[in-house]
Amino acid sequence: MVGIEQEVYEKKYKEYLVLTLADYQEGLKEGKLLGLKCNDCKQYTCPPMMVCQRCGGMDLEKTELKGEGELMTFTVIRVPPEGHEAPYIPCMVRTVEGPWVIGRLDYDPDKATQDLCGKKVRMKGAYEWPGDKFSGGPLLCPLFELAE
Ligand SMILES: [Zn+2]
Repeated sequence: MVGIEQEVYEKKYKEYLVLTLADYQEGLKEGKLLGLKCNDCKQYTCPPMMVCQRCGGMDLEKTELKGEGELMTFTVIRVPPEGHEAPYIPCMVRTVEGPWVIGRLDYDPDKATQDLCGKKVRMKGAYEWPGDKFSGGPLLCPLFELAE
């Protein structure tokens, strides 16, 4: 959910949202990976949701994740969607706190092989996705680099 729909959603449920997508985006701008810690099951949720992604609890507190994890999977995009420049590498990272987050991997796409899966990565900043005719505008996502 992005753009105007996200704004409407966040206004409607503001009192229940400890961490909004806008807060998450602001954190990424500052180089922080923000998430939620559940006071019921003690697990983490990232990116932000209204409820704990593990137990569905709503007793959540905002927290900063380390921005470190393991590269679980990735692909190399060579034919980009509108607004993107190829090649680039979208990836999924399992953070050390547990949640899987989608980001980009800062790595030479011509040298990327499946041997990268399982490598330690760390967040080095944010990538700004410019948006397209189907979205409400630009969005940030975490940018990862190899840590080993
Ligand atoms: Zn929970």
